[in-house]
Amino acid sequence: MKRQWFYRGALKSCNYSCSYCPFSTKRGSTHELEEDRQALFRFISRMDGLHSAEGALQIIPYGEALIHPYYWEGLAQLSRNPRLDAVGAQSNFSFPVKEMLSVYRQHSGNISKLRLWGTFHPEMTTVEQFVRQCNLLLSQDISYCVGAVGIPEQIHSIRSLRQSLPDSVYLWINKMDGMKRAYTPSEIENFLQIDPYFGMELSHHRADAALCADSRFVESDGTMRQCNLSRQNLGNFYDKPATVPDYSCARKECSCYLAYCNRMEPEMVCFFPYPAFRIPVYPKAVFIDVDGTLIPEGETQIPKRYVHWLRHLAGYSDIYLATSLPYETARKRASAVWPFLCGGVFANGARRMVRKISLDEIEPMDTNWLAQLLEKEPQYGFRLRQYKKEGMLYKVTLAYQRNRLPEKLSKGYLLDEFARELGIPDTCQLLSEQNCIQITKRGTSKLAGVKSICQSMGYGRQETAVIGNSENDIPMLDYFPNSINVGAGKL
Ligand code: SF4
Ligand code: SF4
Repeated sequence: MKRQWFYRGALKSCNYSCSYCPFSTKRGSTHELEEDRQALFRFISRMDGLHSAEGALQIIPYGEALIHPYYWEGLAQLSRNPRLDAVGAQSNFSFPVKEMLSVYRQHSGNISKLRLWGTFHPEMTTVEQFVRQCNLLLSQDISYCVGAVGIPEQIHSIRSLRQSLPDSVYLWINKMDGMKRAYTPSEIENFLQIDPYFGMELSHHRADAALCADSRFVESDGTMRQCNLSRQNLGNFYDKPATVPDYSCARKECSCYLAYCNRMEPEMVCFFPYPAFRIPVYPKAVFIDVDGTLIPEGETQIPKRYVHWLRHLAGYSDIYLATSLPYETARKRASAVWPFLCGGVFANGARRMVRKISLDEIEPMDTNWLAQLLEKEPQYGFRLRQYKKEGMLYKVTLAYQRNRLPEKLSKGYLLDEFARELGIPDTCQLLSEQNCIQITKRGTSKLAGVKSICQSMGYGRQETAVIGNSENDIPMLDYFPNSINVGAGKL
């Protein structure tokens, strides 16, 4: 995954006067604007000249940048940088769209790279005016998202905005800072109906540097940090690139979208950390591991916000499980989201199901070694469970009591030796996971199972997203470029 860049210039002024904002009605002096312009073009030249600076760039100003034509020219220049895949800016969408785009084109700006983020301020503009701007952008094929602060008193105009825009335009809701009270359940429900990802805003994202994707936030003087909230200085963008020491975040929480969009979390499969412009991307198919991913470590059920997210995602993508659990157990553990699923890869690839095409196939194993293994239950201290489809065995689990799995086996060193000791034939493979040894036909794997479903359903590698957390998931996470490792840094 390439790097997400954020730039904030010296600008601290705006043409709007929102009552809660420190930049409200502050007009930049000619001197301040010139300083901001110079800082912007210094940044752009450095991005052009720095061969390691590749990825996507978003301008996140204090105030409104896009009313100043030098930002239009700057964005055009950035879009010509072949190492940048996408460029964009946050705005209140009050800028003259046609003029802006004409300057952008005059400077040979690449329209397909442009990504805009428009915040609706009901105090300052009407739904009609705002939608007019959005429609102009749409008519020019510009990708953008819109959103508003979740002020309960403004729900009517925000809802009316939602109804006036096509479904393809994502409308986000930011939680209101400084509200001095919690949202009521009905307020949350109202906002969730507008923004299915509002739950992410309300969640506490405990800061964890191990979960951060690759991002850089650069200020006008070149100060560089991991994200807009981070306090750790990563050096100066204009100095010779230096090795960055091990990063540890001193924040308690990644408390705004620009921070939490950098995290390797399941929902990010639609808000891919790269390129993060808050414009959802819907893969054709999404494969999700269960234990440790859909049910986070230390929890016993799927969090409500994932249920909400998957319900929404099911409208756009085909969702599957990819788990080492057998079908019956996976179905029970994922019951809260089962109606949204198209099927799955179970038992580590030994069973594959796709409801749409009534596919339910297994990799059967011989059973002539089972009786001998059953006799060994008391001696070895495991409980043997068999999983079959229509009488055919596709998985065996040797379940040990908590913490009774011999250490040498939990580390996986001696699994083959152990198999020989127990008389398990070479045609089977063993995998140790938590307190279990899983036995399936040799050659089965989650990756093989996912690839097989992709082939049956015609999902391309780039159109498929995979989310997992454990060592067993690594081959499929490595194979599919759109993958999220929610256990990154912990493996
Ligand atoms: S549009 Fe944004 S920057 Fe301008 S006053 Fe309103 S909140 Fe502040
Ligand atoms: S606050 Fe920023 S740097 Fe810290 S963990 Fe969150 S995203 Fe990473």
